[in-house]
Amino acid sequence: MFAFDYLRTTYLDVLKINLQRSIAYLKGVGPSRAELLGKELGIYNYADLVNFFPNRYIDRTQFFKINQLQPNNSEIQIIGKVTALRTIGQKRGSRLVATFSDETGTMELVWFRGAKWIKDSIKIDKPYVVFGKASLFNKTYNMPHPEMELLVEYKKNLRTAMQPVYPSTEKLGNKGITNRVFQKMMQTLFEEINIEFQETLAEGIVEELKLLGKSEAMFNIHFPKSQELLTRSLYRLKFEELFFIQLQLIRKKIIRKNKIKGYTFEKVGDYFNNFYKSHLPFDLTNAQKKVLKEIRKDIGSNAQMNRLLQGDVGSGKTIVAVLSMLIALDNNFQATLIAPTEILAIQHFNAIVELLQKMPVNIMLLTGSSKTSERKIIHKTLETGDLHILIGTHAVFEDKVIFKNLGLAIIDEQHRFGVAQRAKMWMKNNLPPHVLVMTATPIPRTLAMSVYGDLDISVIDELPPGRKSIKTIHRFDSNRLGVFKFVRDEIELGRQIYIVYPLIKESEKLDYKDLMDGYESIIREFPLPKYQVSIVHGKMKPKDKGFEMQRFVRGETQIMVATTVIEVGVNVPNASVMIIESSERFGLSQLHQLRGRVGRGADQSYCILMSSFKLTSDAKTRLQTMVETNDGFQIAEVDLKLRGPGDLMGTQQSGVLDLKIADIVKDANILQQARNLALSVLKKDSDLSHPENRRIRNTYIQITKNKAIWANIS
Ligand code: ADP
Ligand code: MG
Repeated sequence: MFAFDYLRTTYLDVLKINLQRSIAYLKGVGPSRAELLGKELGIYNYADLVNFFPNRYIDRTQFFKINQLQPNNSEIQIIGKVTALRTIGQKRGSRLVATFSDETGTMELVWFRGAKWIKDSIKIDKPYVVFGKASLFNKTYNMPHPEMELLVEYKKNLRTAMQPVYPSTEKLGNKGITNRVFQKMMQTLFEEINIEFQETLAEGIVEELKLLGKSEAMFNIHFPKSQELLTRSLYRLKFEELFFIQLQLIRKKIIRKNKIKGYTFEKVGDYFNNFYKSHLPFDLTNAQKKVLKEIRKDIGSNAQMNRLLQGDVGSGKTIVAVLSMLIALDNNFQATLIAPTEILAIQHFNAIVELLQKMPVNIMLLTGSSKTSERKIIHKTLETGDLHILIGTHAVFEDKVIFKNLGLAIIDEQHRFGVAQRAKMWMKNNLPPHVLVMTATPIPRTLAMSVYGDLDISVIDELPPGRKSIKTIHRFDSNRLGVFKFVRDEIELGRQIYIVYPLIKESEKLDYKDLMDGYESIIREFPLPKYQVSIVHGKMKPKDKGFEMQRFVRGETQIMVATTVIEVGVNVPNASVMIIESSERFGLSQLHQLRGRVGRGADQSYCILMSSFKLTSDAKTRLQTMVETNDGFQIAEVDLKLRGPGDLMGTQQSGVLDLKIADIVKDANILQQARNLALSVLKKDSDLSHPENRRIRNTYIQITKNKAIWANIS
């Protein structure tokens, strides 16, 4: 019954055909289908088509009898005959119904579209194989839009137990390009090209890792001979895909290290040592020490540092930044620290001025609201070198801001800045300054490997000692009175409270109404003069916002009602309760960031997640995860599983994540192995010039020639 054995032999004969040939030339495709395939799926030539992989497989070894059918909505196949055809209903609402029978019973096949074409092509009383989902209606089973094939054809075709299902689009489906058509195209293609695929991995690797050869994998991915071969083919092709991505990322890193020279900070001098010995307000955690060592190693070499520092909210990234800047100063360089918002920049400025108050260091603040007179001083002292450290917002990126000798640029909360802005920092000195990017949004390991695989990454994975972990509780809206009582008790103890409302663009009006309604009910529940309530939201003038924030910071108000503007906002150690309204509407990372606003002081802190009863299963998972853990990395992993990599990273880096067959969430293990192999290959042979890496080199050149997707990562 299986015809592929015949195909297999001819297919192994090497007969070079140009895979760049347009699929319009493939038998049965033609110009109009070719155009559609290009538009809908990006399939333009033979190579695109062979590399278009199924996204699942179905077992088609089993046939059902009509009297065995069950209303469980699974895909099944039946052998039987069409005994009658009729059209029911008028014009637009009409449908074509076929009576379909086998020796055990009768059911119906139904078409709502394409009735005319189907009516003409169906042969009455000839055995067919029909395939689709059967459902029960009026005691009769019916199968809408079945795949149909005459039994004689079915037997002739290249077919295996595991039937591939190709990803498709609605438009293709409507134009009659069904999965069956895809299978046919693939079969025609394989018969026509008769090609032995070039092995892309070194022989030694294929042997050592017991990988399936490229040709065998390519064949079995489209026409799996067995479950085992399918599994091995999937593994092989995923591995290959991830391997070549890692190879590019790691090579990029090596090239940068070799080519992009940076300033060498040779010594650790008085600035650093005096501060470290006499003014450091606490002992560094081991994680902070480890990270500082990694940074010192980078800036002490002659290559430019490009390091990402990840550390959860409150893990103490600021002190690491300060110590690194002092090393720059020790080597007669200037340093800058850039934050995404003015509030954060001011906060950094105040904190760092306080830390360095006993040190002979000049520090200034530059933001959008800096006065012209201040700017003049900043511009001048930056150019003379009298200003050592400039803290600011993206105002620092402006071309007018010229340093005498910038050696280190630190960027806080990197996800808020674009790559282009970061690149601007590179132009601020003759050689690019060292760049340290700090983020409190942990990036899951697999994602970090894929997207930032060419960056160096440091992680602060430990909180300063004595920090009480935040207790997180989920409460339904119906428990609000209990929550209010808790708030009253905490205020009695002298604590402050945040109450946050969601603000999601599409429903802005409604959200503001929620916020204002909430505010009204809060001031009713917590009336003057005993209680003072602040409110801050995006529609307020910056001046008013700042005023209200400051009242809360100074402890004049006990409750801060806000939209998510406080997400990367102020540091109020006395605030010990974070209440998040409609928490089911927030994403995980946002919930985690909000929670990080409390737990900054010595008191036990709480995060209360308010929600309605009605929760989607994703929302349940999010809230449950928040209740179960405070670990940002664990939360990021769950977030990745729920949302997928594209949503997490935005479109910016989608090129790297645009995988044909692998999935960085599900194939994390393969990714790790591929990365390890790429590392070990490049360690021995960084420019892939050894003879045993010839194939890898060829493939590498091929891939990098076609796509410059790496250009936008730095
Ligand atoms: P983040 O990583 O969120 O930027 P910060 O640098 O603002 O964290 O640090 C959070 C708080 O922890 C600050 O008040 C800081 O002074 C304090 N801190 C940082 N490192 C330590 C440490 N090793 N021991 C004690 N407190 C620390
Ligand atoms: Mg910080």
